[in-house]
Amino acid sequence: MRESSLWRALLRLEKTVIEAVEHDEDEGGCVVVHVRPVAKSRNRCGRCLRRGRLYDAGRGRRRWRSLDLGTMTAFLEADAPRVSCPVHGVVVAHVPWARHDAGHTRDFDATVAWLATQTSKSAATVLMRIAWRTVGSIITRVWAETGGASDQLAGLRRIGIDEVSYRRGRLFLMVVIDHDTGRLVWAGKGQSKATLQEFFTALGPDRCTAITHVSADSAKYIADVVAANCPDAIQVADPFHVVKWANDALGELRLQAWRDAKKALRANPKRPGRPANTDPPHLEAQRVHALTRVRYSLWKNPENLTERQHAKLEWLAVNDPRLYRAYLLKEGLRLVFKLPPEDAPDALDTWCRSAAASRIPHMVDLQRTVRRQRAPILAAITHGLSNGRTESLNTKIRLRTRMAFGFKDPDALIALLMLTLGGHRPALPGRT
Ligand SMILES: [Zn+2]
Repeated sequence: MRESSLWRALLRLEKTVIEAVEHDEDEGGCVVVHVRPVAKSRNRCGRCLRRGRLYDAGRGRRRWRSLDLGTMTAFLEADAPRVSCPVHGVVVAHVPWARHDAGHTRDFDATVAWLATQTSKSAATVLMRIAWRTVGSIITRVWAETGGASDQLAGLRRIGIDEVSYRRGRLFLMVVIDHDTGRLVWAGKGQSKATLQEFFTALGPDRCTAITHVSADSAKYIADVVAANCPDAIQVADPFHVVKWANDALGELRLQAWRDAKKALRANPKRPGRPANTDPPHLEAQRVHALTRVRYSLWKNPENLTERQHAKLEWLAVNDPRLYRAYLLKEGLRLVFKLPPEDAPDALDTWCRSAAASRIPHMVDLQRTVRRQRAPILAAITHGLSNGRTESLNTKIRLRTRMAFGFKDPDALIALLMLTLGGHRPALPGRT
């Protein structure tokens, strides 16, 4: 094998001539591969690949970060002239190894996109030696290309519409999921009629008529936009939201119990002047501790609880029966959505009666909301839109949104969500 063929294979370069390879010791040691596009790929517009006229040398030679070679960072270096395109004017010329305006090679981009959708933030940034913001820019351009190459909105019949908050609840995204495939199909910036209308405009009038069911929370503006665009679609309550209301009520109740315990602890502090280990177990302190730690066990689905989390709930059953009752009510409501449609109406009414009888103000309020939404809730169950797959997709959307914290641009969050949950998972370069 000739040396240049080996380098081309190693760097998976196509339509590229290897001119030289050097070990640059200046920048802490890196490999620099000098390259140029083959004659046929030269002088093409970086945006549309049309052949253009050479305009000038641009800003001279530049480097693109490539995948590491062993433990050493590697760069491709080449001229970056400008060409004049009949459509786009004066543009930096296309290079076969990288996207337009990118400082990394296509394989580098692909590897980062794969890591961002498969691993943690720190695994991706440490392994690739880049900042999280750079990960954001890379996945944004990967998604722009992936999303542009396929139609996300084909074949939609039953959809769910939802709002997701990010940046600690200061900004919002609207997301649309496909109940039939369990995919995220669309995400847009904002939380308004105009944002949601963007989705229906992209869908187009023909495909709007094919939509048979729409689930959403009870926001009126969503119902209005849906009715205007898909007048024949059946609107149902989103079971995920109903369970979220219950979780929110439970969360507030726990916080209240925790605050009361704290107050009791302040009123009865540890006796001063005695070493801690000679004191009998301090009941108030124990209570504050337990109410802090039970938080996640309350939210988790019982089938996913660890043994220790089970023990925390058992403690709650004995020591705070009121909060425990609220927990059982939340779980009861989740259960209603898993019942066969014919059993659901009775179960929902029984649930409302026992929530009202609990006399826990949060649960009584919740029960009122549920009663008001009875018809759309039962419609969700009857039409089979209360599946666990949707619930888990919604949970994943929220987990990813938290992971995206630190991206400069909401487009990066949208790219992360779409690449992870939109059915187009990035593949590692060089694998089939
Ligand atoms: Zn062009």
